[in-house]
Amino acid sequence: MSPRQPVLFLSHGSPLTALGGDELASSWARLAGRLSRPAAILMVSAHWTTRIPMLSGGAQPGTIHDFGGFPAELYALRYPVPGDPGLALRVKQVLAGTGIAAGVDASRGLDHGAWVPLRSLFPDADVPVVQLSVQPERCARHHFALGRALAAFSDENVLVIGSGHMTHNLMDYMHPTGALPAAESRAFREWVHALVLGGGEAAIEALFDWERQAPGARAAHPTPEHFLPLFVALGAAGAEYKTEWLGGGWVEDALAADGYLFERVQ
Ligand code: ZN
Repeated sequence: MSPRQPVLFLSHGSPLTALGGDELASSWARLAGRLSRPAAILMVSAHWTTRIPMLSGGAQPGTIHDFGGFPAELYALRYPVPGDPGLALRVKQVLAGTGIAAGVDASRGLDHGAWVPLRSLFPDADVPVVQLSVQPERCARHHFALGRALAAFSDENVLVIGSGHMTHNLMDYMHPTGALPAAESRAFREWVHALVLGGGEAAIEALFDWERQAPGARAAHPTPEHFLPLFVALGAAGAEYKTEWLGGGWVEDALAADGYLFERVQ
């Protein structure tokens, strides 16, 4: 029997987190020491947005440097990990079985939402990675259903990771005031954190309605793509699970960078 993997939600930080030295990188280093080696990783990244769910299907996905204006050393970083075309195809089939039409893109590489945390968690780059896109035009429930369809892969030693951000106001990030994180982002983070840690059906229902119910939702996420991977992770966690907060701090005192580990209970 394959070992079962937990499910992760990670805030992936700024590309600079790849250079280490911040609280988020420290949280990944602690996590790396605890994870068992999966057979493959299914990585849902906020930086791949499509109309329908898409899977990377190449045998050797390239490293995409999808950011501008950062130090040259970041553009020299590579994460030369293998892909897993067979897994991509199986995920597509499983999604089709639940009524979700998905596609496979053999030319797609790994964006920084995927490789920045994965370089820290699996530095040997020897665990195959398949990326899965998010659909910013679709709601939280769609992404939860997407995750739920993936839940069985955890039992096959596949590590499912949602990679986004707890809060993601890039104006706050690019124009820091030197003050504490913005009050709206702090309020949003507190609201989400309590519900994710509390768990249960009512909490999930409230989270589904985050755009209306969460304080500071619009300020914390002017666009939704960085929050949606959380719902894929919550869905993939299964019906009953324990939640562990992984820390993460605030990137540049602007972006909340919490991560969570969901471990199924039964
Ligand atoms: Zn990002």
